[in-house]
Amino acid sequence: MLTIGCHLSSSKGYLAMGKEAVKIDANTFQFFTRNPRGGNAKAIVPSDVEAYLAFAREHGIHQILAHAPYTLNACSADEGLRDFARRTMADDLERMEFTPGNCYNFHPGSHVKQGVETGIRLIAEMLNQILKPEQRTTVLLETMAGKGSEVGSRFEELREILDRVELSHHMGVCLDTCHVWDGGYDIVHHLDEVLDEFDRVIGLNRLKAIHLNDSLNPLGARKDRHAKIGEGHIGADALIRVTNHPALKHLPFYLETPNELEGYQAEIALMRKCYQE
Ligand code: FE
Ligand code: FE
Ligand code: ZN
Repeated sequence: MLTIGCHLSSSKGYLAMGKEAVKIDANTFQFFTRNPRGGNAKAIVPSDVEAYLAFAREHGIHQILAHAPYTLNACSADEGLRDFARRTMADDLERMEFTPGNCYNFHPGSHVKQGVETGIRLIAEMLNQILKPEQRTTVLLETMAGKGSEVGSRFEELREILDRVELSHHMGVCLDTCHVWDGGYDIVHHLDEVLDEFDRVIGLNRLKAIHLNDSLNPLGARKDRHAKIGEGHIGADALIRVTNHPALKHLPFYLETPNELEGYQAEIALMRKCYQE
C-alpha cells in the first residue's frame, strides 16, 4: 500500500489534520511545527494528541512528518540566529515526543559566504547540541535545490554532516524530487543512477521520506519552485516511476505542490492509481 499524503495546516491541531488526511485518501501527512517563518509554537494539547493517536490507529495513518520553520539557519554567520535555530529545534524535538516514532525534517541551512565547510561544521555542531540518546524521533536533513548558498544540494554535503553527528543513528535524509532535480540530479532519465549515487555516498538505509514535487524549472536550475504533478519539467511519468521504484516504494511520500486540498486529493488519487503493489 502506497503511503502518501500532503502538507497540511497545523493550526487546528493533530486530530484536525488526521481528519483532513482521511478526507483526501491520504494515510500520512506533513505539517509545520509552528509558523513557517519561526516564532512561538502553539502549546501541545495532550487531549488533542490522544484523540489523534486513536484516530490514526483506526484509519491507518502513520509515519507523519514534522517540518521545521524554513527560515531557521543552523549555519548563519550571526551567532544569535544560530542560537535561535538551535533553541527552536530543541523545543520542536521535545514536542515531537508526544507523537513518538515519527520524523522531523529541516533545511540544513545557508552558509552565507562562510563557505560550505564552515556551514557543514556549524550544522553538525548544532545537531550535537540538541540530539538526545533517548529521543524517539528521527531528524531528517532535506536535500536542497542549491539556491544561493544552501548547504545540502550535493549528497556529499549531507554525508559530511551525518559523519560529524555523534548520535547519527537518530539522523536520516528526506529526498525532495524538485530539489534534487534543481540541484542537477536527473531523476527523469537516470533515476537508477541517481539512487545508486545516493546509496554509494549516503546509503539508502538513511533515506526515510520523499517530498514528491514537480519543478517549474529545468534540470540544474537551482531555483526551488515547486509545480503541480505533471505541470513541471519532471512530469507525472517520472514521479510515478519514483513512487514505484523498488528502492523507494516502501517510503512515505509527501506532496508539497502548490495546491488546495482538492488538488492534493486528485494528485493522491493519481499516484494511488498508478502504484503497483
Ligand atoms: Fe522543505
Ligand atoms: Fe521539500
Ligand atoms: Zn522546496
